[in-house]
Amino acid sequence: MGRVLAAVLLLLAFAKTAAADEVNVYSGRHYDGDQILYDAFTKKTGIKVKVLSAPSEEILQRLIIEGKRSPADVLITVDAGNLWRAETAGVLQPITSSILTQRVPANLRDAKGYWFGLATRARVIVRRKDDPSTANVKTYADLADPKYKGKVCVRRSSAIYNLSLLASMIGHDGAAKAEAWARGVVANFARAPQGADTDQIMGVGAGECALAISNHYYWLRLLKSSVKAEHDAAAKAELVFPDQAGRGTHVNISGAGVVSTAPNKANAIKFLEFLVSDEAQAYFAHGNYEFPVVSTATLDPDLKALGPFKTDPINVRTYGENQVQAQELFDKAGWK
Ligand code: FE
Repeated sequence: MGRVLAAVLLLLAFAKTAAADEVNVYSGRHYDGDQILYDAFTKKTGIKVKVLSAPSEEILQRLIIEGKRSPADVLITVDAGNLWRAETAGVLQPITSSILTQRVPANLRDAKGYWFGLATRARVIVRRKDDPSTANVKTYADLADPKYKGKVCVRRSSAIYNLSLLASMIGHDGAAKAEAWARGVVANFARAPQGADTDQIMGVGAGECALAISNHYYWLRLLKSSVKAEHDAAAKAELVFPDQAGRGTHVNISGAGVVSTAPNKANAIKFLEFLVSDEAQAYFAHGNYEFPVVSTATLDPDLKALGPFKTDPINVRTYGENQVQAQELFDKAGWK
């Protein structure tokens, strides 16, 4: 009996040490700025941050396959659509934290606490500046206007950023209108969908497209690039934040949740709370030119230069809930 008790105590002591020591992060982000942030967390708390980076889809598959044996405590990924997939797959658990609920706006987090937005990204129109025919493009609806036939470049419909954009339109306007919009954009394609957002901006630079859909940070990255061709392409374009006179520009999140089997749950919550501190928010957003979710955080000068803009206040959960329907509508509209 004594021996069993000793073994249990030893196990408890071991578990406790492990819990006090580290937090395991599976991240679908892989930006240099993030590592600086993790180091700052360790310095502050003594908790080591172990990071496994991979594309979002791989991370989710890995969590599902590892199941109860997963060492992961925190999942960080981009797009509310991916966070929703993770929640639906059962790999996240709801947590309660007044810091998180107070600092993250309600429309940028899950109401039950499964995931929280950490930074935002705007899905914008990239417009070639020297094409006067598109000077009046101001809305997503404009991209479907027949007068812009042959001018629009955008990536494939299966890209989560596009699924989330159409899912938001379904949420606002209903399926019929969302499908009509997709059809209109397909009719205006400058070329068959290909590549990622960056490739659409390069297409604008090359003159292949007059208008492109992209997340805002890709344009800033290219503009700041030391590769001349990238900088030059971005410099030929300007950003249009759509729907400023209407419901505002579609924004999405980078976000995180605590893994359902997290061995270090308390550390995971501490880590998420740290990520929404003013200090971390400034860093987190800077590394990838994303906007902080906390309004009091210092805004990167390059982001500030884009000017304030009105954002669509829809709850980002909609992007997950309407995701399957969005893909169906894209398919029907012929958006490959
Ligand atoms: Fe991205």
